Amino acid sequence: MFKISSLKNAIIHIRKCTKFIITIALSAFLIIGVFTLCYKPIYSVTLNGEMIGYSENKSKLQERINKYIEEGNGQNVAFVDIEELPQYKLCLLKKNITPNDEEIFEKVISGGTQYYKYYAITVDNTEKAYVANFSEAEEVINKLKEKNSNNKDKLGVIEKYETNLVELATVEKSVTDLYEKKVVKKVASSTIGATGVNTSNKVVNLGISLVRPVSGVLTSRFGARWGRSHKGIDIGAPKGTTIVAAASGTVTYAHYGYGGGYGNHLIISHGNGVQTLYGHCTSLLVSQGAYVSQGQAIATVGNTGNSQGNHLHLEIRVNGVAQNPQNYLY
Ligand SMILES: [Zn+2]
Repeated sequence: MFKISSLKNAIIHIRKCTKFIITIALSAFLIIGVFTLCYKPIYSVTLNGEMIGYSENKSKLQERINKYIEEGNGQNVAFVDIEELPQYKLCLLKKNITPNDEEIFEKVISGGTQYYKYYAITVDNTEKAYVANFSEAEEVINKLKEKNSNNKDKLGVIEKYETNLVELATVEKSVTDLYEKKVVKKVASSTIGATGVNTSNKVVNLGISLVRPVSGVLTSRFGARWGRSHKGIDIGAPKGTTIVAAASGTVTYAHYGYGGGYGNHLIISHGNGVQTLYGHCTSLLVSQGAYVSQGQAIATVGNTGNSQGNHLHLEIRVNGVAQNPQNYLY
């Protein structure tokens, strides 16, 4: 009898225990259920110790910030320097708290400094034009070299990292802006010779006074000579005698060679269409494009080209028409 009652007791005990366990489990489920209904895991975000919001997707937000640091928000951004990165902390918070990733992103990047990368093209180490990338800079320089721009040997490229983006130009615009015409205009060979001869007695006013290019003996006059027109005068002088510029001006032509009979010769332009030509020289002391002052040594007397004996053939032209030098000199 005792055995039976003790068995009954045991069964009752097990039932009680089971009930208790079920009750505990149910309560736990209920509590967890209520909790998950009201709470959710979320990241609280702080920047410089200041709470700036909540994010449900920390990795997505941080990825976006990283991308911004690398690329910025525009063209030619090298990188963005952000002083402080946000700190994340996982919390369980009430469900009615809404994440504000957009606001967090704006706050984080507002403390950043964008660095722009672009290229400056320099002339004589002075920045003259700006382009977006290195290949464009190279293209500009190559085009200027192709065009034989006067500044082609002074060009350079500098890589720029700046917080302000300057106005960038296209390759074409940069080439146009930087192109410098050669100071020397090549004189077409057809204009080297005089276009006419003033055989009248009318003396054209040059507007400038001339000095004698060499001292020597007048050996041939201007005008008719051997059935042809002599477009200048000849002054005999020993080989190597210094020839000076009759007036200041720019050497617009400097030729070594036969030169259509003139031999080694120079043409100096004095402005207002007035030019002087110095022929049959031994050597030329100035180059094409040079500015010379009155009386400056420019060449030496010789016997080059169609010449018999050392002498200077001197021409004075006004708008291409040969004038009698003796109206002004000798
Ligand atoms: Zn002559």
